[in-house]
Parts: sequence; C-alpha cells; structure tokens
Amino acid sequence: MVAFTFDDGPDPVQTKRLLDGLQERNAKATFFVVGMKIDPEQQDVRTKTNIQLIQRMQAEGHEIGNHTYTHCYLSQATPSQVYKELSKTSQIIEMITGAKPKYMRPPGGGSLTAPWVRKIASPMITVCWSGVDTRDWECRNVTKMVDQIVKSVRDGSIVLLHDNYATSVETAFQAMDRLAGEGYRFVTVDTLLSRNLGTEYQLNPMRIYSAMYPGDLSKLQKKELQNA
Ligand SMILES: [Zn+2]
Repeated sequence: MVAFTFDDGPDPVQTKRLLDGLQERNAKATFFVVGMKIDPEQQDVRTKTNIQLIQRMQAEGHEIGNHTYTHCYLSQATPSQVYKELSKTSQIIEMITGAKPKYMRPPGGGSLTAPWVRKIASPMITVCWSGVDTRDWECRNVTKMVDQIVKSVRDGSIVLLHDNYATSVETAFQAMDRLAGEGYRFVTVDTLLSRNLGTEYQLNPMRIYSAMYPGDLSKLQKKELQNA
C-alpha cells in the first residue's frame, strides 16, 4: 500500500485532470485542501468549481484533509490563529461533504508543528510524508521526480505532491503506473494509517504520522477500555 497525498488544492484544471487519471487507475488518494479555496464567502471565480471538485473527491472515495485556511505556518502563529485556521477549514469541508476531516497536514510539514499545535488540532491526526520531498512546486523535471518517488517508496509510504501543477499530476500518474507494476495499490491516508489498528489500537493526535509500515505499532495507542 502507498498513500499518495496532494496539498494546496483544489485547482480547477489540474485537480480535475488528476481525478480523471485516478479514476482510470482505480487509485485512491488524499487531498489536503486550503480552506479559502473552497469558501463560498470568497469572491473568487474558481470557488464554485473547487467546491464541485471536493464533492467529486468524496463521491469517488478519496480522503479530504485540512491544510489550514490561508496556508498558514502554524507554529509561527498564535494559538487563537491556529484554532481559527483549522476550525474554519474543517467547518467548510463539513458543510460540503457532511463530515469533518479526520486528518490535517501542517503547511511546511511536521517540523513546523509544535506539540501545542497538535493539541489544538486534536482530534485530527497530523500527517506528514515519508521518503523524498521532490519539491514538485519548484521542480519541473517529471522523469527525475518519478525516479525519486519510485526508488523511495516502500509498503506503507506516504508520498507528497501538489495538485496545482501539470508536472506534479504527470509525475503522480507515471509513478503510479510503475509502482502498480511492482504490485503496489494506492489507498487513502485513512486506509493506510488504519492498517495495523485492529480492535485494540487507535491513532494518537499528539504524534506525527509519516508512514505506516506493516505490523508497526510504535505510534499507536491502546484504546481505553469501555466501562461495562
Ligand atoms: Zn502546502
């Protein structure tokens, strides 16, 4: 299993192309979306299309996660700003999909979330990525990025890309096609992170999850026993 994740969208053109290609490949993915891009209150011609893309993601079995409202570096913000950035985005996602997001990715990655940030984000689970960061937002070399991804992926990896660049979407498709040939299947972050839970364990909102390898219980916590 590999979880491909796409940050900073949706994008009216590239996210649509990506969803088409995921559908063709029967692949599931996770989208960490920026709240202001899907906020009906924003006077932006792209918003309506972006909201329809969120509805399509949900209908097609993808996971929608929280990537803050303004793409804010959370550890540099105040606690009340962090709360607003996350809660406003979760409310908008819930308004569109009927469900609050279970996962969040801090802009800039885990090094930019302090424990106090994760406490505010709780019960959302903080998700980063494993292996290479292709820096696809500045790199335009698809072949190089595909090679980096294919070489670094293991069973349980989380791959980071951004769905607002044509080159990133192309990279995802080529990497998936090569990995599918090696027997990988492409699942949401929720499917991947739940693989070892069984009935006894749960994810811990105070941890940062960058992968979930087979049988790895190290970042899981035992469920509290229910009172009889
Ligand atoms: Zn981002």
